Amino acid sequence: MVSSRMASIHESTTLKISATAKKLTASGLDIIDMGVGEPDFDTPKHIVEAGCNSIRMGETHYAPTAGIPELRQAIADKLCRENMLAVTSDDIVVTPGAKMAIFAAVQSLLQEGDECVLIGPSWVSYEPCVAFAGGHAVWSDVDENFLPVELSEIISPRTRLILVNSPSNPTGAVFNQKVQEEIRDLACDHDLFVISDEIYEKIIYGHNHISIGSLSGMEDRTITTNGFSKAYAMTGWRLGYLTGPKETMKWVTRLLSHSVSQATTFVQRAGVAALHGPQDEVAAMVNEFRVRRDLLVSGLRELGIPCSTPGGAFYVFPDVSQFGGGDVFAERLLKDALVAATPGSAFGPGGVNHVRLSYATSQTRIMQALERIEKMLG
Ligand code: PMP
Repeated sequence: MVSSRMASIHESTTLKISATAKKLTASGLDIIDMGVGEPDFDTPKHIVEAGCNSIRMGETHYAPTAGIPELRQAIADKLCRENMLAVTSDDIVVTPGAKMAIFAAVQSLLQEGDECVLIGPSWVSYEPCVAFAGGHAVWSDVDENFLPVELSEIISPRTRLILVNSPSNPTGAVFNQKVQEEIRDLACDHDLFVISDEIYEKIIYGHNHISIGSLSGMEDRTITTNGFSKAYAMTGWRLGYLTGPKETMKWVTRLLSHSVSQATTFVQRAGVAALHGPQDEVAAMVNEFRVRRDLLVSGLRELGIPCSTPGGAFYVFPDVSQFGGGDVFAERLLKDALVAATPGSAFGPGGVNHVRLSYATSQTRIMQALERIEKMLG
């Protein structure tokens, strides 16, 4: 027995692949896990210390639903300084992970039957979030660099929301100023909201990250979501946040207050340390990701697998249509090469010809994976 609302929600393919890879590893097989969606780096020590100190100081009780004042202030300062968003601490809501920020925003904005535009292959949890709110996801086409094409074609009278994710999971695409302005113009012309998921903003290679909420006309229609998981290697801490129009933040806070209550109190102290502390470990991690990206992209191309160069995040999304498509190729990879990857179909209909390979693994493992794939392809 399950409610009809829940029945439309699929299991997360990325978490499933990860669980399978872990199971196979535990059975003694040497699996190279390229299905993972988290940095293979430790949380920087000063952040860990701040969390531990907070526990020792007894900060183990309830905190305000929208977050502790110090963290809301640190986030507002960061968004003003780096993202050109004119916000104050009152506009910030802290959440247990960015996933909850997106979930709460979608639930607050969509009416039953509303449409939400996803741009090309998109992160696995967007569609379930939309379905849970009673809405429908519609996917726009993208070009060979995974940038939107003919976005206006997909707008209908039921469209309420566009979800923007730059840099993108799974494609690594970074939306330039022109693309962001096109989305802005559409949103303004059709009176739409935009959720801008900026979780990979720091993991970007030679591009400028643009927050669409900073473009003129977007301040009252953009919800910007972000978190600490990727930039600070804090996936297990569960810390995210969002900002947007006051009315939306009011309903988001209400939803949190009746569900998760708040992000963990001492984790929020760790978040303050992350934002106030040195940023050199972030830079070192991004440099390492860039080397791995280049290694993997050139290695795949040498094997005759077409692969565009991602501008951000830590995934490549090669085209494997010549090998029977993403589902067939991912299965073969796991069985014959002991490499775990995520089939592109997990990211919507535009992904069926692709697989997603995460390079959140060492250069040595990437080289081994390439050797195994070469052998597999014979
Ligand atoms: N958005 C995207 C695009 C992601 O890839 C992820 C994590 N896989 C999230 C949001 C959620 O991050 P978290 O809940 O760990 O903060």
